[in-house]
Amino acid sequence: MHDIGGDSGSDFGRRDFGRRPRVLRVLVTGGAGFLGSHLCDRLLADGQEVICLDNLSSGRTENIAHLDRDARFRFVEHDVCEPVPASLLHDGLDRIYNLASPASPPHYQIDPIQTTRTSVLGALNTLAAARHTGARILQASTSEIYGDPTVHPQPETYLGNVNPIGPRACYDEGKRCAETLFFDHRRMHDTIIKVVRIFNTHGPRMHPEDGRVVSNFIGQALRGEDITLYGDGSQTRAFCFVSDLIEGFVRMMDTAPDRCGPVNLGNPHEISVRTLAERILALTGSRSRLVFRQLPQDDPTQRCPDIGRAQEWLGWEPLVGLDEGLRQTIAHFRRLFGIAPLGDAS
Ligand code: NAD
Ligand code: UDP
Repeated sequence: MHDIGGDSGSDFGRRDFGRRPRVLRVLVTGGAGFLGSHLCDRLLADGQEVICLDNLSSGRTENIAHLDRDARFRFVEHDVCEPVPASLLHDGLDRIYNLASPASPPHYQIDPIQTTRTSVLGALNTLAAARHTGARILQASTSEIYGDPTVHPQPETYLGNVNPIGPRACYDEGKRCAETLFFDHRRMHDTIIKVVRIFNTHGPRMHPEDGRVVSNFIGQALRGEDITLYGDGSQTRAFCFVSDLIEGFVRMMDTAPDRCGPVNLGNPHEISVRTLAERILALTGSRSRLVFRQLPQDDPTQRCPDIGRAQEWLGWEPLVGLDEGLRQTIAHFRRLFGIAPLGDAS
């Protein structure tokens, strides 16, 4: 039996009387996206059965195509704004990871009302599925719930500084409301919840057109285009590599039932956006120029996780350094753009 913190998840119709460890049945919403597809890989590698539910709005079938022939993997095209299909609940679920949401500022601002709906209705529908099956459920929350932080680095106890009527609010407030729903479900129904607040993460399978800083800068550097720094590039972020983040997800899901979080997951190595551009130029060997563009409204001036709680609860901290991670993300974009790999240009 997997060690799942003293709780065996749901036994709904699926008792295992044999000696073999019971295969857990896991639902991953947003599973065709960047993080979700890596999570599906990891869960399958751990021997679990995975149902990937996604409406393919920003996710791509290419991200999960390699899983097609795995009998323990199933893709269901579905919108989390609708209830989880009864056919999936009928056979029981042990765990739910709720990742479905547009994630990059340009994506989530295309249809902000739909972004809020996805967070709120997606939380309600996946929590209802958890309640019905007895599954434990993890919410992919975000550092964005801290808004433009006035406390630095951000511990989980910081309540944030969000503009509720600005262009980022659809995402920030949607995710905040989802956290509220998770904790209220715990208080009202004893649902076993896990909330992780994810800080900027990069890696292979990032969408090349998602407008995030890592994908923009690498794409621009590889194409020899100008690197677009918003503002003066002095705003800070801390970039986590995807394998580290997925390890944090899995460890958090396995914690004891009373450890509901929230827990920050991110790399505490903080750098300016300008420094990021300079590292990407060095690692790609690109001669692109840095150019300056208007800073978007409500763009946080600094962001860096305090990961003390993740260290204490999960024994977790990131293992992949900035350059090492960027090399892998750059290699992914080279393959995607059909550009031959370079020797190490750094
Ligand atoms: P992504 O866009 O690659 O993945 C999101 C997935 O959700 C996509 O496959 C998309 O098609 C799917 N989706 C969106 N709306 C849906 C809906 N209504 N119904 C079903 N599926 C839907 O983004 P990602 O970076 O993989 O982000 C995954 C999760 O992690 C998101 O919840 C995001 O808010 C959170 N997050 C990510 C980061 C990061 O740096 N990558 C940071 C903070 C939080
Ligand atoms: N950014 C930038 N140039 C770009 C894209 C983004 O300077 O081409 C900046 C953006 O203004 C922000 C930071 O990089 O300050 C991170 O942006 P991203 O969209 O990746 O994520 P955020 O942390 O803002 O959610």
